[in-house]
Amino acid sequence: MTTTLQNITDLTLQQLTRRMAEMKEPAWRAKQIHEWLFNHRAHSFDEMTTLSKALRERLRETFTITPPEVEKHDEATEGACPGPTEKLLLRLPDGAMIETVLIPGPGRLTACLSSQAGCALQCTFCATGTLGAGRNLTPGEIVGQANALNDMLAAPGQEQKITNIVFMGMGEPLLNTPNVLDAVETLSTRGYNMAISQRKITISTVGIIPEIAKLATSGMKTKLAVSLHSAFQEKRESLMPLAARRYPLEELQPVLAHYAKNTGEPITLVYMLLEGINDSMDDARQLIRFASGFFCKINLIDYNSIVNFQFKNVSSEKRERFRDRLLETGLQVTLRKSYGTTIHAACGQLAAKGMEHGNKS
Ligand code: SF4
Repeated sequence: MTTTLQNITDLTLQQLTRRMAEMKEPAWRAKQIHEWLFNHRAHSFDEMTTLSKALRERLRETFTITPPEVEKHDEATEGACPGPTEKLLLRLPDGAMIETVLIPGPGRLTACLSSQAGCALQCTFCATGTLGAGRNLTPGEIVGQANALNDMLAAPGQEQKITNIVFMGMGEPLLNTPNVLDAVETLSTRGYNMAISQRKITISTVGIIPEIAKLATSGMKTKLAVSLHSAFQEKRESLMPLAARRYPLEELQPVLAHYAKNTGEPITLVYMLLEGINDSMDDARQLIRFASGFFCKINLIDYNSIVNFQFKNVSSEKRERFRDRLLETGLQVTLRKSYGTTIHAACGQLAAKGMEHGNKS
């Protein structure tokens, strides 16, 4: 009978410490192993030369290390972007394919991580939604994306480090909350070279109400972004049919208000402006009504065109008029330019191009 060994990168430091105790090893061993996994990004136990041979052998009998394999690396420099946007197509051990993106910004380098291979929610503007449900990623597969990006950054001539993380890649993170939170814990473990403060990690959701309510009291310091795209219930349902029907705006708003009050942190409302759909002054007024009830900021983003999708981006004049209407009311608003469109790395464009290499059809 074959037993499946656990991927050791799935374990947070706390979980690994418990496993070490079961193996009659001291707690500091867990830290030592974690440093090999996440500071040195070891791909095998043999690389962990500060551990005895006997312990390495016992680890090999109990765990595996299965980093994602880089199937493809694309990069593109666009407009005023301070560096290239880079996208990795990664193959997971079961053949599932995911994408992860590195986005440069002034003084920062943001990793956009995937939380699921595919997505069941079928938002009408999103390429990932066309893939269908796929599966949840394990914590190790999530952290493995950051490791893969750090491997790429460690190439000769590169000295940069990921400074921010956004869960805006493939999938809905709050349909995979436990694994996402375990990954956040590992990514933010203090004292590691790769450690990123939880305040620089953003979980972006379509608005999964029960999970937002849990997050509000979880003690996590991560930031929350909610994809709104319309403050009219019917219109939102036409854009995000499954999520908007299941979690209507009238129920979402009080939960967001509670979250913002409880955490003292503003919620980012993400609003993708779509020509002729959600870009009128009426839409702006409805958005103001929705957003005025709690501590939030609004992020207006471009629509990134996807082949065979009927949506169009708005003109810059229209975008600015919409923004100015929001600003008049004192709301905090940012206009975010998307980068990576030419390599299909921008918001809503991730569809693991090259799935034909994987187990999906
Ligand atoms: S926008 Fe997010 S939730 Fe909607 S289909 Fe795409 S990945 Fe899923």
